[in-house]
Amino acid sequence: MVLKAEGIILRKYELRETSYILVVFTKEFGKIKGVMKGISKPYPQFAGNFEPFAKSQVLFYRKNKSSLDLITRCEALDFFLPIRKSIERLTYANYFIELIDIVTADYDANEALYQVLVESLDMLAGTHSAKRVGRIFELKFLGALGLSPQLDVCARCGSEVKEASLFSVNQGGLLCRGCAGNGNREIEISLGSVKFMRKIQSSSIEKTVHVKVSREVGVQTEKVLRNFLHYHINRPVKSLKFLAGLEKSGIV
Ligand SMILES: [Zn+2]
Repeated sequence: MVLKAEGIILRKYELRETSYILVVFTKEFGKIKGVMKGISKPYPQFAGNFEPFAKSQVLFYRKNKSSLDLITRCEALDFFLPIRKSIERLTYANYFIELIDIVTADYDANEALYQVLVESLDMLAGTHSAKRVGRIFELKFLGALGLSPQLDVCARCGSEVKEASLFSVNQGGLLCRGCAGNGNREIEISLGSVKFMRKIQSSSIEKTVHVKVSREVGVQTEKVLRNFLHYHINRPVKSLKFLAGLEKSGIV
């Protein structure tokens, strides 16, 4: 039986002259891996359909567990062209799909996670700051995986936190002053950063992208989220390393 899905291309490999292996994170089935055969070169009319983070419609036959699916059709619905014209936006899009690829298993659908990815790519293709879209993606991504940081009360004792505080990576959220310093991995966090992160957690991506924050809040939120994600993912993220290189050399 042929199956139909909408998905974002995570990776592609050239298999032979005329075949590709495509890894696609689909809305309906989660991550699928399949072979697409019979692509004759030159293929300018097909090439864009298989590019990483293109949103595509895929027709495929599901094979047994040990072999790749057979993809019979893969047609781009959105190529996100504006993202591909900016090295910073392109790197963020690659970062999003790299994180998705790391945390997803084959045939384990997560429609909320799929929506976070698609909406973040839509925003990244607009004129909003790429860094801002990055922070929103990180928090929404954690939320869709059930790993949202605790930002309302102390993650250790549950008491209310009303002032500038500490964020504990291994406790999974804010710490009150009383709970600080017990061997937790702690990062200073201002009330402004906490409010910004809460706003992202409770609002739609479209709304949060317009909220104005200071540079300090942006920098602090990035540090907190990077550390928190690193703690959960626990492996190097190639696109982040590349992004750090771009930032260091002043390109972005
Ligand atoms: Zn506490």
